[in-house]
Amino acid sequence: MTSFDAIVIGGGHNGLVAAATLAKAGRKVLVLEAAADVGGAARTEEFAPGFRVSSIAHVLNRLHPDVIKTLELEKHGLQVARTDFMPTVALSKDGPPLVLHGAYGEVLTGSTPSEQSAWKELRAQLLRYAGILKLFLSRRPPDLAGMSLKETAALGQIALALKKLGKEDMRDFLRVLLMNVADLLDEQLADIRLKGLLAFDATLGSHLGPRSPTSLLGLYYRLAGETGGAAGAQMLPKGGMGAVITAIRSAAEKAGVTIRTAAPVAKIIVEKGRAVGVALDSGEMLRARTIVSAINPATTMLDLVGPREIDTGFVRKVKNIRMKGDAAKLHLALDRPPQFSGVDAAGHKGRLVIAPSPDHVERAFNPSKYGEFSAEPVMEITLPSLSDPSLAPAGACVLSAVVQYAPYALKEGWDAGKPKFLKAIMTQLGTYAPGIGKSVLHTELLTPADIEARYRMPGGHWHHGELQADQMLMSRPVSGWSGYDTPVEGLFLAGAGSHPGGGVSGAPGLNAAKRIIAMKG
Ligand SMILES: Cc1cc2nc3c(=O)[nH]c(=O)nc-3n(C[C@H](O)[C@H](O)[C@H](O)COP(=O)(O)OP(=O)(O)OC[C@H]3O[C@@H](n4cnc5c(N)ncnc54)[C@H](O)[C@@H]3O)c2cc1C
Repeated sequence: MTSFDAIVIGGGHNGLVAAATLAKAGRKVLVLEAAADVGGAARTEEFAPGFRVSSIAHVLNRLHPDVIKTLELEKHGLQVARTDFMPTVALSKDGPPLVLHGAYGEVLTGSTPSEQSAWKELRAQLLRYAGILKLFLSRRPPDLAGMSLKETAALGQIALALKKLGKEDMRDFLRVLLMNVADLLDEQLADIRLKGLLAFDATLGSHLGPRSPTSLLGLYYRLAGETGGAAGAQMLPKGGMGAVITAIRSAAEKAGVTIRTAAPVAKIIVEKGRAVGVALDSGEMLRARTIVSAINPATTMLDLVGPREIDTGFVRKVKNIRMKGDAAKLHLALDRPPQFSGVDAAGHKGRLVIAPSPDHVERAFNPSKYGEFSAEPVMEITLPSLSDPSLAPAGACVLSAVVQYAPYALKEGWDAGKPKFLKAIMTQLGTYAPGIGKSVLHTELLTPADIEARYRMPGGHWHHGELQADQMLMSRPVSGWSGYDTPVEGLFLAGAGSHPGGGVSGAPGLNAAKRIIAMKG
């Protein structure tokens, strides 16, 4: 029987990044993935005959540069070119859209000159402040209780970056840090289309409305991400998000990682407080010195380890992680490309956002607090087959949209609610792209409950746990255990539920692997 130094549970992108990094550092690594294929929520799949789509995550905007560099992903086929950056189009019912070009609106068109200069100033400020958060992404959050000399030095670098902001900016940074995004936008901008778009981006993937306290943090998190060296830039990978997985998988296999699919882990074996192996659903047992769980932290600790192996305080903290998703995913197979009113050909290849004002986003959010879906949902739409015709039959088109708010625990239940929510979405789409309903050949709507069941993402949550102030940095996944270690010796966490959070970044996987290597695990 082959023995391994490390077993990675979960072959999502973070699990693969962790495995590849460990293997490159000389460890013998096995990845165990429950599904028939690796990639988790970052796969490309066929949803109708001849139509393929990025089945959950569809926009690449935060794959961490250290991940690309460490795994040499460009050598493994990942293509990230500035020419692939796509615009964002803020759609409006009442007139022409507003367009952010380049890397998150280096140029803004469709608005007044005074709004353009207000945006230029706000954009620069947002990027400066997001730059502070960015310093935290590729390292363990500071352990305030017991910092090593190295960690103290790293914190010093962050303090220096803060100081570099200058007195005025630093004061403002601290003033706005925990604000709600709507208030900040009202202070600085006038155009409700631009404000609606930013309100949407700040709250995408979270259980927050733009007027919820701290909602601005979501915008910083987004802008702390980068693509091709440009903060806030976004693209649709050729071949869908699965192409990113293909590159990471290739790097992992080249480094010697063994990958087993259709191998769900049922249990983490703990002996005398130490993780020593795993048991599969099939009953097969495998042992290793280090166990890396790149799946949800609550599933890991409560289901795979079990509460009997951990102290009650820790169990309580894990049980309290909020992770009920609000984002649904819609896929339409269309017999022809749709026409969004007032949008040109370049805009149709971009990210089309329906969030016409912050109030609209807030009103869409409100029902979700009471377990109801939005009557007029907000959404981020892409038409990936326009830039990559291999995704659809000739002349046809794929529409991929993230739609909010669709509460995981819908009061009436999703069996009854899904057809009604789909109707609300199609009505909303038809307002912006008249006649779109007539060209639909096939529809797939994945609610958070569907996402949970199909992709093993508890609550169907974007980040495997809300990414809000109390569940970030030193408090992610739970306070006291933010550095990828767990109370079970030899067991580490490496998925989106860990710092810094979700999105296709690979940062949790890379940071966890670096921690394990530093611990000589
Ligand atoms: C609707 C929606 C839209 C999104 N859109 C975007 C987007 O456009 N851009 C973006 O960057 N991010 C997006 N995200 C977020 C992104 O998809 C996730 O944050 C990211 O994919 C998480 O990666 P991961 O590797 O940590 O976990 P996952 O992708 O969830 O991978 C975990 C893997 O572990 C496997 N697994 C689970 N349990 C077991 C077990 N017991 N044994 C073995 N294997 C197991 C699963 O099958 C899965 O393959 C979106 C999320 C949602 C919900």
